[in-house]
Amino acid sequence: MHVSKRLQKLKPSETIAITTRARELQAAGKDVIVLAAGEPDFSPAGFVREAAAVFAREGMTRYGPAPGTLETRQELAAFLERTRGVSYTPEQIVVTNGGKHALFNALAGLIDPGDEVLILAPYWVTYPAQVELLGGVPVYLSADDAQGFKVTPEQLSAALSTKTRCVIFNNPSNPTGAYYTADEVRALTEVCVEAGVVIVSDEVYDAIIFDGGPYLSPASVSEEARDLTVIASSLSKAYAMPGWRIGYLAGPPDWVKKVASFQGQTSHHISLLSQAAAAVAVSGDQAPVEEMRVAFRKRRDFLLDAFRDIPGFEIAVAPEGAFYLFPRITGLIDAIPEVENSVDACAWLLDNAMVALVPGSAFGAEGFLRLSYAASEEDLEKAVQRLSETAGNLIG
Ligand code: PLP
Repeated sequence: MHVSKRLQKLKPSETIAITTRARELQAAGKDVIVLAAGEPDFSPAGFVREAAAVFAREGMTRYGPAPGTLETRQELAAFLERTRGVSYTPEQIVVTNGGKHALFNALAGLIDPGDEVLILAPYWVTYPAQVELLGGVPVYLSADDAQGFKVTPEQLSAALSTKTRCVIFNNPSNPTGAYYTADEVRALTEVCVEAGVVIVSDEVYDAIIFDGGPYLSPASVSEEARDLTVIASSLSKAYAMPGWRIGYLAGPPDWVKKVASFQGQTSHHISLLSQAAAAVAVSGDQAPVEEMRVAFRKRRDFLLDAFRDIPGFEIAVAPEGAFYLFPRITGLIDAIPEVENSVDACAWLLDNAMVALVPGSAFGAEGFLRLSYAASEEDLEKAVQRLSETAGNLIG
C-alpha cells in the first residue's frame, strides 16, 4: 500500500527501539538490565487505583466532551494554580492522550509549513519528529556539559529569527536531568516575550526536582509570558501513570478553543476512566509523589558517586531533576577500536556488559549516552558493577 511521504520520513523512536531489543534479549533468556526507558518503576497511588476501579464499575462508557470533562479540567486548573501560581479557566485546558499528544496538539496549533521551531539540544527524541510531521523546520540550539546543558539568554536571543514560530523548552530535561532555576527561567522567558516568540513548555518532570529551588513555569513569569506560553504536561512521570495516557495542555483561550476542535476531529477525547483517575490524583494526597521524588534522589546520589570511579564515563554536572544521567563517553568510544560513536558504544555495552542504554545521538548529542534510573536499586547496583568491570578491563 502507498505510504505517505510524511510517514515515509518518520523514524521510530530510538528509546523505544532499544528497549524493544533489550526486552527481546531478556525473553531469549539473557540477563539484560534495561536502563533505557523513561518510565517510572512505581505504581499509581493506592487511592488512585481504588478510585479508578470504582469508576470502572460505575460505567463511564459514553462519549464525553472533546477537550476533557469539566471536572478534570477544573482539577487541572486548580493544580496549575497551586503549583505554579498561574490562573487558567477550564476552557483554557485540553486533556490529551499523554504528554506526547499534548505536544503534538500544541505544535499542530502553532506551526504552519516552513515555520521554524527552536529546539534546545540535547532534546527529547520526539520533538524533531513532531515538528517535521507538521511541516515545520527544526532549528537546534545546543548547550553541552561544560555549561550544564543549559542555554544562556544571550544564546537564546541570538538563535531566534523572524521565522521562529516557537521554542520548545523542557524543564527539568530529558535526557540530561538539567534543571533551570527560577531566575534562569525568568531570564529566558523574557527573551521570548521581547521577541514575541511562543514558548511550548514541556513540564512533564515538574515534580521530580532535587536541588535548585522551586519550580517556575515560563507561564508564571508575567501575564505577557502566560499569554505566549503553552504548557504541555502529563501525569505519566509524577504520578507514575504512563499507561493510563493522561496529558494536558494549557494556553490562551481562543487558541485552546481551536486546539480543542482539532482534538475533536482527530481523537475526540481520552478515556473517561483515565480522566476521572487524573482528577483524583492531582487533587488528592501528594505524599506518594514526594516519596517517589525522594527515591529518585537517592538513586541519583548513588549513581553520581558510583560513576566517579567508572573509567570512560564523565559526568561534569550533577543532574538536578527528572531521572536520567547523561554521561560523556568520548573516553570509552576512543578506547574501543570497533566503536566510532554513541550508537556503536551502546550496542557494545549491550553485548559486553548486558546493560541497555540509549545513545546520545538520539537526543542530538553525539559522544554521550543516557541512563534512566527509573529502575530498582538492585538493578542499578548490578548495572554499575557490570559497567565498572567492563570499562575497567578496557581502560584500566
Ligand atoms: N516530554 C518528555 C520530555 C518526556 O520525556 C516524555 C516521556 O518520556 C513526554 C513528554 C511524554 O510523556 P507521556 O508518556 O505522558 O506521553
